[in-house]
Amino acid sequence: LPEYAFIGRSNVGKSSLINMLMDQKNLAKTSGRPGKTQLINHFKINKNWFLVDLPGYGYARVSKKDKKTFQKYITEYFLKRKQLVSAFVLVDIRHEPQPVDLEFMEWLGSHGIPFAIIFTKADKLKPGAIQNHVDAYLKKLLEGVWEETPPYFITSSSKHMGRKELLGYIEEINHQVSRS
Ligand code: GDP
Repeated sequence: LPEYAFIGRSNVGKSSLINMLMDQKNLAKTSGRPGKTQLINHFKINKNWFLVDLPGYGYARVSKKDKKTFQKYITEYFLKRKQLVSAFVLVDIRHEPQPVDLEFMEWLGSHGIPFAIIFTKADKLKPGAIQNHVDAYLKKLLEGVWEETPPYFITSSSKHMGRKELLGYIEEINHQVSRS
């Protein structure tokens, strides 16, 4: 089945987002502690695609050796996984573009792996500030290596925001790939 990989820095809100998408509490473990999701987990959604939960990058508290191991897993997954349709890079909507995220997106791009950006924790901004933050983020991407901006989604797991849009998008590309 087609797979969609979710990845981002530790604590970005990935587990919460996955729980929101699955509509089942505590399916992916959430915690205030960074670096908890350590292996590649598959969640079957609507019987026709897999959401793939990849380990977070940028751990503060993980040894160098573990970091290398995770990196190897992630790299192998992206380069070898035929079922992979698209990656979703999660970024905290409050933060400026972080080098580790930008490098990762560039790495995906250089290997021809499609991706979209998921902005998380939108409830932490005033509603009027949300689009400004997103626009500033995308502008930075365009100042870098990108000539066009990737698709993006604005989400809040605590306010149940962006779920319909994100699932609709995935179902749509899933429909296209399963017909081709
Ligand atoms: P992960 O390490 O990326 O899996 O992040 P978690 O899902 O465990 O979330 C990290 C922290 O951010 C936890 O304290 C969550 O409660 C909090 N968090 C996650 N998503 C949201 C959100 O949409 N809004 C708010 N306000 N907090 C969030």
